[in-house]
Amino acid sequence: MKLSTITSTLAQMGMQPTRSLGQNFLHDQNLADWIVAQLGLKPGDAWLELGPGLGALTEFALARSANGLLIEKDGRMCGFLRERFPEVEIVHGDATEFDVRELFARGPVKVMGNLPYYVSSQILFQFTDEPSPVSTLIFTLQKELAERLSAEPRTKAYGALTLLIGRRWRVKYLRTLPGSVFHPAPNVDSAVVALTPRPVGDFPECDGALFRKLVKLGFAQRRKLLRKNLVEQEIDWPALCAHLGVLETTRAEELSLAQWIALTNFAAGTAPETAAQDVHGEMFDVVDENDRVTGQTSRFNAHAQKLRHRAVHVFVFNERGDLFLQKRSRWKDKCPGLWDSSAAGHVSAGDDYAATAPREVREELGVEAEVEEIAALAACVGTGWEFVRLYRARHEGPFRLPPAEIESGGFFTPAQIERWIAARPQDFAPGFLECWRVFNQPTPPPAG
Ligand code: SAM
Repeated sequence: MKLSTITSTLAQMGMQPTRSLGQNFLHDQNLADWIVAQLGLKPGDAWLELGPGLGALTEFALARSANGLLIEKDGRMCGFLRERFPEVEIVHGDATEFDVRELFARGPVKVMGNLPYYVSSQILFQFTDEPSPVSTLIFTLQKELAERLSAEPRTKAYGALTLLIGRRWRVKYLRTLPGSVFHPAPNVDSAVVALTPRPVGDFPECDGALFRKLVKLGFAQRRKLLRKNLVEQEIDWPALCAHLGVLETTRAEELSLAQWIALTNFAAGTAPETAAQDVHGEMFDVVDENDRVTGQTSRFNAHAQKLRHRAVHVFVFNERGDLFLQKRSRWKDKCPGLWDSSAAGHVSAGDDYAATAPREVREELGVEAEVEEIAALAACVGTGWEFVRLYRARHEGPFRLPPAEIESGGFFTPAQIERWIAARPQDFAPGFLECWRVFNQPTPPPAG
């Protein structure tokens, strides 16, 4: 939108830009087109714009893909946008209150926004938090925030924000924008940044919650020695520094992301895991069509020859009734990268369902929980020729997910899962879909 069109549109609407809503409208059309081009939209791609205002970016995104969604807090802007772009879905609401989980049903989503400064950091964390359905983020931010996101170690801008976002996202500082490209012009510069999810293997895995805790503690007083900031963590400091190859007097800002991850794994006493566990030696009971044991075979044989065997699935609900779903690691031999039950696993040879279920919860989620059997599924194509016992458990998390097995996970409302399955069944492991179908079947009335 040209400057003259913006000012005349605002005049016709009888409104002044609202400072408290961060209303600075982009009036450089070449720039708007360039920003949208960074999203790499192809026809049909799902995209989301936060704070579209009068639609400076929106028109260029719609020209590339009609599959958009806008979230705008100012009702007057929403009225204007509905008239200007009747074909696009518009949510009149606060982007910081938007439930990002709703986006999974749209598939990987590209997100953009010339963000209002007062909520930029909050929105950044909200849309990058795990699990995230976002495949690319193009945000215009206050320049200082963009510099913090993309900073290098040993610089003033490098800090907890750099690392907390950087562990999962590659951040690219694309360009600086002077205030003069907006109306009214803010008195600070802005910058456009691109965030894309880090591919698996970019860095070793580590416990995300512990990483967050250590980074926050480490930078709590950034001039202090790191050893002093982490004094309560009972880390063997000389051994850690030797492991990281740094001086014992190192400060938080001197460690790279790779070193922070190594520090976390050292503190957790775990070796970094990147590949799936060795499962080749595993043995299963082979069973007949009535689930009676007839022999034993290796995991490989059971799957290759489609022999009936046994497995458990556990649905873990929180107090609100949301179900925890896990995203399987991309290294798994079966259903890599798909969404699955909270915990699931094979019954090993000689073992039984009841003992396996709580063990899977312990091994996959890192917690103890009582399980209750709620259904039995016969072996079929959908279950991968597994007889499955489905269990229910209750836990609020947080969970400790083994990175070699599980990439991420999160609680979803049953309604979100329903919509997601209806829109994109290909995102789910078939065994989970079978369990979900059975779980939602109405219970037959008692006989007689
Ligand atoms: N995208 C437009 C452009 O580039 O011209 C407008 C950008 S302006 C910097 C920020 C926009 O975000 C405004 O339209 C404002 O009303 C909207 N906004 C402010 N706070 C918001 C919030 N919490 N949720 C959604 N939109 C918000």
